Amino acid sequence: MRNVLIVLSGPSGVGKGTIAKELVKRNKDISLSISCTTRQPRNGEINGREYFFVSKEEFNNRINQNDFLEYSQHFENFYGTPKSFVLDKLKDNNVLLEIDVNGGLNVKKNFKDAVLIMLEPPTINDIVLRLKARNTESDEEISKRMERINYELSMRDKYDYVVVNDQLNVAISQIEEIIKKEKPS
Ligand code: ADP
Ligand code: 5GP
Repeated sequence: MRNVLIVLSGPSGVGKGTIAKELVKRNKDISLSISCTTRQPRNGEINGREYFFVSKEEFNNRINQNDFLEYSQHFENFYGTPKSFVLDKLKDNNVLLEIDVNGGLNVKKNFKDAVLIMLEPPTINDIVLRLKARNTESDEEISKRMERINYELSMRDKYDYVVVNDQLNVAISQIEEIIKKEKPS
């Protein structure tokens, strides 16, 4: 049985990280890809768990070595999906990428079978409330993230599936169903 490369995208604060962690906890056959980023770790984040935190110089070296499946700039930082890491994991497991819409669409160019899932909030106001409740960004950073919400959501038609993250457990079950359906037998 081949495995599925799943891309989970959606605006900052919609719940991607929460859902990704829960999917991996509940399903032994799903692995999370770990991206490289040049942003600083938030409180509680550990190198090699949430991200590989690297310097701008190291990130540039990796770009030159063609080491990313895709990468993009987000706010003032760079984020990239390490190619060999993902391909290795895909041999044994379904792999979940939690990346922005540009990254997702770039992955699809290389992997026609990648399954793109857009996570939407019930309302835009829910995102503001969630970002504030998460309490990990300054008001200025939250404003920057807000500016990008409409862009992310405008790409929904290019995605294979749209899932609304209203009740967390319902959204998780819907994504589990999509993976089951998409897994080639
Ligand atoms: P993202 O990874 O998309 O930026 P997070 O997973 O960090 O978003 O979620 C942002 C905040 O919203 C977190 O505090 C999280 O606990 C909360 N959250 C996630 N899903 C839900 C939900 N269905 N209902 C209410 N709050 C949620
Ligand atoms: P955050 O700083 O909140 O962890 O992430 C900011 C944005 O970067 C989110 O939209 C997240 O999905 C995106 N992101 C994380 N990793 C990657 C990656 O490897 N590639 C791309 N293109 N985006 C990523």
